[in-house]
Amino acid sequence: MEKSIIIIGGGLAGLAAGCYGRMNGYHTSIFEMHNMAGGVCTGWKRKGYTIDGAMNTMMGTRPESGFYRFWEELGAAQQWQICNHDQYILMENEDGKIFTMYSDIDRLEQQMIEFAPEDEAVIRKCCKVVRDCRRVEMPIDKPTELYGVLDYIKMLKMLPTLRLIQKWGRVSTADHNRCFKNSFMRKVFGIRPEAEFLGMPVITLFSMLASLDQKDGGYVIGGALALVSYIQQRYLDLGGELHLRAKVEKVLVENDKAVGVRLADGTEHRGDVIISAADGHTTIFNMLDGKYIDDRIRGYYDNLPLRQPLVYIGLGVARRFDDVPSSTEGLHFPLEEPVIIAGEEHDTLGVQIFNFDPTLAPEGKTVVRVYFITDYDYWERLYKEPEQYKAEKERIADTVIALLDKRFPGLADQVEMRDVATPMTWVRYTGNWRGAYEGWMITPKTLMHQWSKTLPGLDNFYMAGQWVVLGSMPTAVMSGRHAVQFICKKDKKKFVTSTP
Ligand SMILES: Cc1cc2nc3c(=O)[nH]c(=O)nc-3n(C[C@H](O)[C@H](O)[C@H](O)COP(=O)(O)OP(=O)(O)OC[C@H]3O[C@@H](n4cnc5c(N)ncnc54)[C@H](O)[C@@H]3O)c2cc1C
Repeated sequence: MEKSIIIIGGGLAGLAAGCYGRMNGYHTSIFEMHNMAGGVCTGWKRKGYTIDGAMNTMMGTRPESGFYRFWEELGAAQQWQICNHDQYILMENEDGKIFTMYSDIDRLEQQMIEFAPEDEAVIRKCCKVVRDCRRVEMPIDKPTELYGVLDYIKMLKMLPTLRLIQKWGRVSTADHNRCFKNSFMRKVFGIRPEAEFLGMPVITLFSMLASLDQKDGGYVIGGALALVSYIQQRYLDLGGELHLRAKVEKVLVENDKAVGVRLADGTEHRGDVIISAADGHTTIFNMLDGKYIDDRIRGYYDNLPLRQPLVYIGLGVARRFDDVPSSTEGLHFPLEEPVIIAGEEHDTLGVQIFNFDPTLAPEGKTVVRVYFITDYDYWERLYKEPEQYKAEKERIADTVIALLDKRFPGLADQVEMRDVATPMTWVRYTGNWRGAYEGWMITPKTLMHQWSKTLPGLDNFYMAGQWVVLGSMPTAVMSGRHAVQFICKKDKKKFVTSTP
């Protein structure tokens, strides 16, 4: 008889764990609390428009890259259509001049030197690091916890790569940008202009530019919803069970062994192994009542910085934007007066115009998205006052529409759909702790951090997803795959994969 795996959470990590579990002969049941799978990798339909909630740049879209193989095994790569933008970001200055950061590194280098000749030496150095990053292929095929001597010997070949990551992983983007004499160059050479991004290690920017240059950071047409639909179909085709509207309240434990789950409706379900691919904080402190924890794991939740949540404004606009080139991060322009959201001032507006994905809007119309990084506690407080919460969302939508109308005259009258999601929206639909939509923040401290995938003293239990790896779509599916590799190892089975 097949051994069974219960998977809590049907986000990308949970779906991947389910697919690899089935490929390896386990009976798998995913319990997902929402009425659809995908977790934060999602989108929502409003009045004929689809607001994408997660897809900007996704690693592994180049057939030669390591992550591509995972997308193939999960049945996505065979079906998707990829859009590789020629532009990474468009930054407008106070005079209305647009500086384009190109995806092609040679073109970007030349253009930056022309723009800021005083910074030529720094620009050339940065572009060299980006080119060196193109050779970086992290070992993702199996978890380092399962490495043997041969794997470590193979790792020796990676020493130059590791040195590169170590060197540039220690420097924040903000610190690095001080090397530029040109003040606008300091501004554009960020991942995005917001403070949160400037706190990330500069290697994050270098490696992203390297993947864009290699066309390995594409956008899946149809957005996050399309990606999830391919993987969900693969899971069902492999014979996996998916239970929606099935919120897990407790992990059942007997003699320090996880043996099943109890749902919010009171039903109990037994399994041989349990994987939680749901929010880490809820898993450890609620589903397991904080009983299986040590100082190291408590330290993650006490000390590590979280990805700051978002206020996310989606608009459906009855117009095209043929004059705005498509880009990974959209157009960013300075505001005459700062916008205040949750008590914080924002002096730039970043707008993504989805004119490159015709599936998201009716013909001749476009979805436009603006987001602001925001404070979680403010929104948690406001949510308790439904009228004020609703009014603040309306005020933000009105403000954004007015600001966009200034930049694109006539836009206000063309808005057919408006939607505002807040950190509480993410909490409600995905359970992510404090609205941290990508889990932990990438900083020089967390970049090389290794999270434990098991809990001390608890047998037959694994964790997957963005609370045990740095958050992204490919790392989420990688962690689901790794969880099944741990289980196969324990069961003395060879881990196998297949492609549809
Ligand atoms: C705005 C935004 C932009 C992003 N941009 C990118 C990008 O450009 N590129 C990229 O690679 N990544 C991006 N990401 C990140 C990426 O989407 C996530 O890191 C990844 O999808 C996380 O998957 P996960 O399965 O680990 O977690 P989740 O998606 O959080 O999945 C957890 C699942 O568990 C379920 N769950 C929680 N509690 C319970 C419970 N008690 N019972 C049952 N089910 C439960 C949730 O409903 C959810 O479905 C973005 C994310 C967002 C939100």
